[in-house]
Amino acid sequence: MQVQKFNDLPLSKDVLRGIKALGFEKPSPIQAQSIMPLLEGRDVIGQAQTGTGKTAAFGIPMVESIDLSDKRVQGLVLAPTRELAIQIAEHISRISRYTGIRVCPIYGGEKINRQIRQLKRGVHIVVGTPGRIIDHLNRGTLKLGAVHMVVLDEADRMLDMGFIHDINKILDKVPKNKQTSLFSATIDRNIWKICNKYMDKPEKILVSKDEITLEQIEQRYVKVDRMSRYPILKELIVDQGVQKAIIFTRTKRGAYALSKKLKRSGYNANALHGDLSQPQRDRVTQGFRKDKIDFLVATDIAARGLDISGITHIINYNIPQETLAYFHRIGRTARMEAEGTAITFIAHGEEKALAEIKAHTGTRITELKTSVNVKAGPPEKHKAICRKCKTEFKLPFKPTDGRPVYCLSCLKSKRRHHRRRH
Ligand code: AMP
Repeated sequence: MQVQKFNDLPLSKDVLRGIKALGFEKPSPIQAQSIMPLLEGRDVIGQAQTGTGKTAAFGIPMVESIDLSDKRVQGLVLAPTRELAIQIAEHISRISRYTGIRVCPIYGGEKINRQIRQLKRGVHIVVGTPGRIIDHLNRGTLKLGAVHMVVLDEADRMLDMGFIHDINKILDKVPKNKQTSLFSATIDRNIWKICNKYMDKPEKILVSKDEITLEQIEQRYVKVDRMSRYPILKELIVDQGVQKAIIFTRTKRGAYALSKKLKRSGYNANALHGDLSQPQRDRVTQGFRKDKIDFLVATDIAARGLDISGITHIINYNIPQETLAYFHRIGRTARMEAEGTAITFIAHGEEKALAEIKAHTGTRITELKTSVNVKAGPPEKHKAICRKCKTEFKLPFKPTDGRPVYCLSCLKSKRRHHRRRH
């Protein structure tokens, strides 16, 4: 059921009064989607930025979950900065103003004694920055044994700020059967690691800016095979008028190889991947920002959080492994009201992943035809003999006469050997 009004949700009278006093008329999209699963006790991953109403999305169910007669801390929110911790605590206090629930922000930079006094008086919900929470845990002034709901807010920023160990430490101190939810503007591999470690069958919710901009993004897919991938890309660049694009590849190696190919074809391209040093990365992103580079070939992680204007196309040279990554990728275009196009390359066997993306977007993704010949069906395999170990194996391409080929394990050991020498 689509939640239209706060009254459609099974909320207590006091909480509804608090919401009304805040002036909220109807739930925002993230609230409409996440309040119910959270009330039901499910774990939730919400991809949402500030300004979407995410605080109330987790704040309302958290307030509803509190047992007022129990004076111990039952709800815990972790946030990256003191400003955010104060803001969230204030927001939850306002939601719960008619309930008698006590909310306390805990952050560094403020005298710890004041916080200790507040905690001693009994607090139901703590909103804090990881460092200061650890400090209290070490002093024994904060106990998390009765916590049944934990929220990691702005998880990407917390990881960027190096809080991962603190977060792990804190999450290891709360009871195992607690409810955990995580909100983040971007969701990448490191965030997934936390989700996999601490969450139980989480509900994934995609909202906000990306949802809005989806309407402005023309979404296409194009069928490719191994041999046609690059010729198709070249044709698209010309035919579709691709001026400024991020081209996503699955691997760092792939990003590097493709950017080299594009450069050889005379394009202004550069790769952005995790093997570059920070100054190198900055140089590449600045170049792209200032239109010195037209095509940025990137991996998901490297392109995380990039907010660059004027991008006309997002090209998924390799389809993203995760549906969430698709949203994250294509959200890079069509910023600031501009139109953009996203083109996803689909190889044999990837139709299911495309169908999943389609099911999530709720918008159309239509096929784009090119003049390049694409073979249907699985890639052809060719027999080959490894030069080193002489075993027979299959290759996805026809080996060139007279050129040595190696099986995967010999190739790997050759590479290792090569790296050691250099
Ligand atoms: P947040 O994304 O949680 O930082 O919230 C952004 C702003 O939206 C805050 O000022 C909230 O008070 C406001 N807000 C949150 N939910 C609603 C709603 N359902 N209706 C109107 N305003 C809201």
